[in-house]
Amino acid sequence: MFICLECIGDPMLKGFKSLPKSEVTCTACNSSTRRAVHPARIARFIRKHLPTHFSVDDGLYDGYEMSLAEVVSRAIRCNNSVVCEAIAQKMVSSRVREDDFYWQGQVYCVKRSPFDDEEHERWWIVGDWQDIAYELSHERRFFSDKARKFFESLLHEALSAERPCSPGTPAVIKTLLSGTKLYRARVAANPTEVQHFKSNPLAELGAPPLDRAKIIG
Ligand SMILES: [Zn+2]
Repeated sequence: MFICLECIGDPMLKGFKSLPKSEVTCTACNSSTRRAVHPARIARFIRKHLPTHFSVDDGLYDGYEMSLAEVVSRAIRCNNSVVCEAIAQKMVSSRVREDDFYWQGQVYCVKRSPFDDEEHERWWIVGDWQDIAYELSHERRFFSDKARKFFESLLHEALSAERPCSPGTPAVIKTLLSGTKLYRARVAANPTEVQHFKSNPLAELGAPPLDRAKIIG
């Protein structure tokens, strides 16, 4: 079974790379496409995130509980119940305790959020960045005080972040030994493109093209 990226509403999941080599049929919309993934792959991707946004329902509000397939449907923004059920089946287990998130037959509710709605949450997370990106692309490009301060605080935070489970270990920044080899990667659509990249690595693996490199405001 496959589901095409058009039938998934979540923008992160739409970005899946390394897709099937030949066309497959989407179970939800029946179209033939290479831009599709197996339910197991979506399950692997969302599995650790679902308990952040949903919790096991304690039966306080009878009738409002959701099945795991319904949780999946909300998380990936796909209304096809066959697909969502298939993804859910890849995550449930009958061998865990009854209070485990993925216990077979578990029911769920949405976790309380400090935000009014999804739009509010998104704005809180990306609002600062969008402000800076707009200023850099449309206003003061080189002498933006706001941008300088933003990057300063971002780098400061990144440099001082430590792993909660092992204090003293950097959580974001990785210091490499001098002389470490770095590789530039580029996704190729097919073997012909691989050969094309190999034939002229200087140009094909150089800086990204201008239209892709610039900041979208
Ligand atoms: Zn589809």
